[in-house]
Amino acid sequence: MPITPFHFGPGAVVKAVAPRHFSFTVFAFSQVLIDLEPIGFFLVTGDPVHPYLHTYLGAALVFLASWWAGRPACEWALRVWNAWLSPAQARWLAYEPQISGKAAAVGAFIGAYSHVAIDSIMHGDIRPFAPFSDARPWLGVISIDNLQWICVLSGVAGLVVLFALRWRALRRM
Ligand SMILES: [Zn+2]
Repeated sequence: MPITPFHFGPGAVVKAVAPRHFSFTVFAFSQVLIDLEPIGFFLVTGDPVHPYLHTYLGAALVFLASWWAGRPACEWALRVWNAWLSPAQARWLAYEPQISGKAAAVGAFIGAYSHVAIDSIMHGDIRPFAPFSDARPWLGVISIDNLQWICVLSGVAGLVVLFALRWRALRRM
């Protein structure tokens, strides 16, 4: 955390800036995958800690797993999503189900590393450079409220741009 959906905001901005080179769905897959760590610890021990995956070393594992498993899973999810839309909804909400290997890699990489960077601002138990260092250089550099506002507002900004891009594409058709 910030609870997983907050991380989607910065992802929406990257998608708006580089729609062809960044898979938002693989990015989202990596967010859910990495937060299975505190959720799993919470269920087993009652304490939602972040010792392994929420490090820059652990993020490499999340990146590779999201790239490898996230791409087919997200292509499948996009096909199910597209099939579920009515033709009118599809004009605005359907997405190309094919994800290039490069877009999947970029989504997975930005997903895993931005997640650790953002979470290390707000969670005192995160040691982003473990096991090499216990340093927590970014802990508290922004208040949790401001951090969450940045995530929400970046999500709104990203969605507005994506909506405008779709609107422009539809007008050209
Ligand atoms: Zn997290």
